Parts: sequence; structure tokens; C-alpha cells
Amino acid sequence: MTVPDGVERDFPLARLTTVRTGGPADWYSKPETEGQLVALLAWAEEEQLTIGMVGSGSNLLVADEGFRGLAIKLDGELAAIEREGNRVLCGGGARLPSAAAKAATWGLSGLEFGINIPGTTGGAVKMNANAYGGQLAEVLEWVDVCTAGGPDRRAPDQLGFGYRSSNIGSAEVVARASFELSPADPAAVRETLAGMRERRREAQPSGIKTFGSTFKNPEAERAEGKTAGQLLEASGCRGLRVGGARFSEKHANFVENDNGASTADVLELMAEGRRRVHERFGVTLEPEVQSLGELRWPDGWEL
Ligand SMILES: Cc1cc2nc3c(=O)[nH]c(=O)nc-3n(C[C@H](O)[C@H](O)[C@H](O)COP(=O)(O)OP(=O)(O)OC[C@H]3O[C@@H](n4cnc5c(N)ncnc54)[C@H](O)[C@@H]3O)c2cc1C
Repeated sequence: MTVPDGVERDFPLARLTTVRTGGPADWYSKPETEGQLVALLAWAEEEQLTIGMVGSGSNLLVADEGFRGLAIKLDGELAAIEREGNRVLCGGGARLPSAAAKAATWGLSGLEFGINIPGTTGGAVKMNANAYGGQLAEVLEWVDVCTAGGPDRRAPDQLGFGYRSSNIGSAEVVARASFELSPADPAAVRETLAGMRERRREAQPSGIKTFGSTFKNPEAERAEGKTAGQLLEASGCRGLRVGGARFSEKHANFVENDNGASTADVLELMAEGRRRVHERFGVTLEPEVQSLGELRWPDGWEL
């Protein structure tokens, strides 16, 4: 099969992630319509290429050696935000903060939780993103999931939502989503958004290169309800550095790339944080951050 139009080779991925580390993808494309996306997925299937979706790259760690497959970022129609009555229809590549802000100007309430989640609709569905108790599943009406075989509309109860997880497979693409919202006073929704932004500014570092939460909050009894950030902090990880990466001074579960970090630096830092928490509390932290390419965990990662 000939290479579809718009497919590029050896495309650097670091700049597509918020932490800005990692190597290139062998293949890269930005489909703008559902037709282009399905054709691309069919080509990848034919060529036996692994699919790697990139949303805003806000919870994504790319291997320094890069990704031996086809990286896809949705654009055009597949990143649009539209209103249909009380519904907001988002392309999988639409940014969640933009959708939350647009819903506010349209006098629609329910998407406010998205204002502080710097990802796309597709990434948020895949990760079951959440903030301050706002539930994605409560306002999500359906998603169109594309594979090489075409689109398939799924309801939230078919998505297997768990804590930061869904059953969306690695070769499945969230191409569109519909949110069913409630009419509200635009000024009141905007005020809620402003309050949420302010709370976030106080709690988390801003303007830094990071992928947000590094580890999931543990469910283990030994954690005694402590968050991953609290466990890391109590284990002396706040500000801990490996190469160009460090755990944030403001929020110990955030890794910052503040000095030209590589993914290897980030992985070594994560391994050290995990080791310290295990030594002190007997709790094994599991990564929340997703990966593209083969991550090389340092010796000592397995506890
Ligand atoms: C400062 C900061 C604050 C954050 N705060 C929060 C928060 O409050 N709550 C929260 O839940 N998360 C938070 N995050 C993490 C992150 O924003 C979310 O996980 C977000 O949902 C990821 O979306 P993304 O588009 O950036 O996905 P990416 O990081 O690009 O990808 C994440 C995963 O989703 C897959 N994916 C992306 N797009 C699609 C698609 N269209 N179809 C199928 N799979 C796809 C990727 O392949 C990957 O496996 C924060 C991150 C940062 C940097």
C-alpha cells in the first residue's frame, strides 16, 4: 500500500508533550476527518504498524529511543468544538479547557471540571480524567471510537471506566464525543471556572514542563489514605533531582523538566521516588503517566 498523503517520517515527539522529552516517531500523521483517520488506521493495520495516539501529551512520556510505529494527532474537524442545543460535540483532539470555556460562554454547565485538565477530549476519555470531583462519565453521552474497520458509537457504561482508566484499546481512537450539559447563567459558570483556576494555581506549579501526576494514588491499606504526593513528600522526595528532572517543590507527585531532562532522567527519578516510598511505607506506587515507545526502566525499578 502506498503511504497516505500527509504521513511524515522520523517526526520529533518531544515538542508534542508537556514534559518535552523523548525521541521521534517513525511515522506521524494529523488526520482532519473521520474518513482520513479510518484510511490511516487501515494503512497502519496493513503495514502492521503500532498506533500511538498523542493528545496534548499532558500525561505522556516518550522513550528517548522514540516510537517504532505511527503516531497520530487529531486535527481539523477531529479537534473542533460545536454546540447542538444543550450538547457540546467535541472532536477527540479538542482541548478540554477550551471546551469548558466555550460551554461557559454558551451558558452550559457540566464541563467545568475540564478547565484545569490540560488534555484533549480523547485523552480525557482514555484516562477517565477527573478533577475536584467532576465526573466525566456523568456528562458524557457517547463517544465515537475509530478502528481500521470504521467508527463505533459507545455509551459511557461500555467504556469500562475505572480510576484513571478505560477499556479503550491501543489501536482504538476516540474521534468524537458528545457531552450533555445543563443550561445555566454564563456569568455563574464563568465565575465557577475562575474559582477553579485560582484553587489550582494555589495547589500546583504552573508554567513548568511536567506531565501532571506521576504516580496513581495508591489504594493499598498501608498507604492509610495518603496520596502519592503525600507519600513522596514524607519520603523526602520534594525537590529531589536526577539530571535535568526533579520532583516539584510545590507538588511532590509532579516531575518537572527544568534543565534539559531526558526521559532516562525522568525514569531514574521515578524509580528513586518509588524505592523511597516502598522503603518507608511498604507501598508500591504505580505510574499514572502513559508511555509511547519502549521505556527503559533503570535497575531497581522492580521492588
Ligand atoms: C499541569 C497538569 C495538570 C493535570 N491535572 C489533571 C487533573 O486534574 N486530572 C486528571 O485526570 N489529569 C490531569 N492531568 C493529566 C492529563 O492532563 C490527563 O490525563 C489528560 O486526560 C491527558 O490527555 P491528553 O490529551 O494530554 O493525552 P496524552 O497525554 O497525549 O495521552 C494520554 C493517553 O491517552 C491516549 N490518547 C490520547 N488521545 C487519544 C484519543 N483521541 N483516542 C485514544 N487514546 C488517546 C494516549 O495514547 C495515551 O495513552 C494533568 C496534567 C498536567 C500537565
